[in-house]
Amino acid sequence: MDISNKNKIDIQKANITVIGMGRSGMGAARLAHQCGAHVLISDSKSNEDMVSQGDALIEAGIQVELGGHTGRIYEADLWIISPGIAQDAPIVIEAKSRNIPVVSEIEFASWYTHAPIIGVTGSNGKTTTVNILFEMCKTDDLSPALAGNVGNAFSETILNDLENTPPDRVYVLEISSFQMEQIVHFKPFISVFLNITPDHLDRYPSMDEYIQAKLNMIQNQNENDHVVFNADDSVLCKKFNGISPKTHAFSLAGTGKTMFTMNATKIYDEAHATLIQLDQLALPGRHNLANALAAATAAKVMGVPNSRITQVMSSFNGVPHRLERVIEMNGVTYFNDSKATNVDAVKVALDSFENDIHLILGGKDKGGEFSQLLPHAQNKVKEIVAYGQAGEMISNALGDAVNLECVSSLRDAIEICHLRAVSGDIVLLSPGCASFDQFENFEERGDTFKSIVTDMAAS
Ligand code: ADP
Repeated sequence: MDISNKNKIDIQKANITVIGMGRSGMGAARLAHQCGAHVLISDSKSNEDMVSQGDALIEAGIQVELGGHTGRIYEADLWIISPGIAQDAPIVIEAKSRNIPVVSEIEFASWYTHAPIIGVTGSNGKTTTVNILFEMCKTDDLSPALAGNVGNAFSETILNDLENTPPDRVYVLEISSFQMEQIVHFKPFISVFLNITPDHLDRYPSMDEYIQAKLNMIQNQNENDHVVFNADDSVLCKKFNGISPKTHAFSLAGTGKTMFTMNATKIYDEAHATLIQLDQLALPGRHNLANALAAATAAKVMGVPNSRITQVMSSFNGVPHRLERVIEMNGVTYFNDSKATNVDAVKVALDSFENDIHLILGGKDKGGEFSQLLPHAQNKVKEIVAYGQAGEMISNALGDAVNLECVSSLRDAIEICHLRAVSGDIVLLSPGCASFDQFENFEERGDTFKSIVTDMAAS
C-alpha cells in the first residue's frame, strides 16, 4: 500500500493488522474498521479483560487473535503498531522486510483530521502540562480534546469526531517517545518539549537515539508551525538553534527571549503586563511552574487571552496523584504524590515546599538510593514514616540522619503523621517506591491515602 501521499491514502477494503491490544491498539482497530478496512488485531498476551474486550471487537466485525501472533499478521497492506511494540521487534522487522508499511497509532489517527494538533513531550511533566493546556484552551474560540498517553487514545478521539468535528477543534496530545517512532506524516501545529533527561534507556541503544525519537515530532513541521521548548534544558537549547518552525522558549532562569518572564514575585508578558503573582499559583513546586509556563506559551500561540491563562494558573490544583492537594485539617495540609515511584520524584516533591514536612515513604523497593534524599530533606523534613516492604531499607539508609519510624501499613503511617503534625505542617505521601506490595497500582495507593485522610477530617 502506498502511503507516501497523505491525501491519497485510501484504506477502504485494505487488510490492516494492528499489533497490540491496549487502548491505542483497540482505538486504531475501531477507526480503521470504521474507515472501511478489513482489520485484524493481534496481541502476544491474553487475559480475562482482553478476552472480553476482544469479544466486543469481534462483535463489531474486527478479527482478533490473542495469546500469540499467527502468520495472518503478515497478510496485510498496512501495519499499525501500539506504543508498547519496539520498532526493532522481530515481527516488525519481518513485516518491513515484506514491504508492509508500518505506522504508529498516532500517525494513523492523524490521517483523519485537519484540525490543529498540539503535541507535548518530554521526560517529565507531560500529563500535568497537557491537563493545564487543555484547561487553558477551553475558550469561546477553541474546543480542545485531550488524548494520547492520557485519557482516550488519539484514534478513539478521532473516531468520535469523524461524523461531526467541532469547527474550532484543537487536539492536545500527550506524546511519549515511543509514539514518535514510525512517524510518516504526523505534523503538530505546535510541538512542546518540556525537558529531556535519561529515561527509557532500556529501550534505546543510546541517549542520542532517545532524543532523536522525541525530536521526530518536528520532522514534518514547516515555517507555519511552532515549537515551544524549555530554554533551561541544555539538550533542547542546542537542538532548537536555527530550525525552521517558529520557536518560542520558556524559562525559569530567564534564559533567552520568552513570551512570559518571571521575576521574584510575578510572571509578566512581553508588554510587561502582569500575568499572575507567584503566590497566586495553585500548583506547588518550581517544576510545576515550568509546566505552567510551557502550557501558557502554547496557549498564547493558540490565541488564548491572558485572562484565561491567569484563571487556569490560579485554579488548576493538579492532576490526581501528582502533588495533589487533598485537604487542610487543623492547619495541616495533606498532599498525595503517589505517582512519585522513584527517588528523583521525591526530590522534586521535597523541593516544592518550604514548610515542615512529615514524609511518608515506602512500598515495593525499585532499587532507589534513598540516602540521596538527605540534601533535599534538610531543615524541612520533621520526620519520615516508612512503611511496607521497603520500610527497613529506607530506615537503614536514612534512620541515622532524620527522625524515622517504620510501620507496616500506609494507614499506620498516616495516623502517626496525623498525631504529630501541627498547624502549618505538611503531610506528604511521596513514596519513592512502587505500590505493588500492598496495592494494585499507584492510583489505588493514592486513592486509599485520600480516603483515609478525608475520613479522618470528617470524624
Ligand atoms: P509524565 O506524564 O511525564 O510522567 P507527570 O505530569 O505525570 O509527568 O509527573 C510525574 C512526576 O514527574 C511528578 O510527580 C513530578 O515528580 C515529576 N515532574 C513533573 N513535572 C516535572 C518537570 N517539569 N520537571 C521535572 N520533574 C517533573
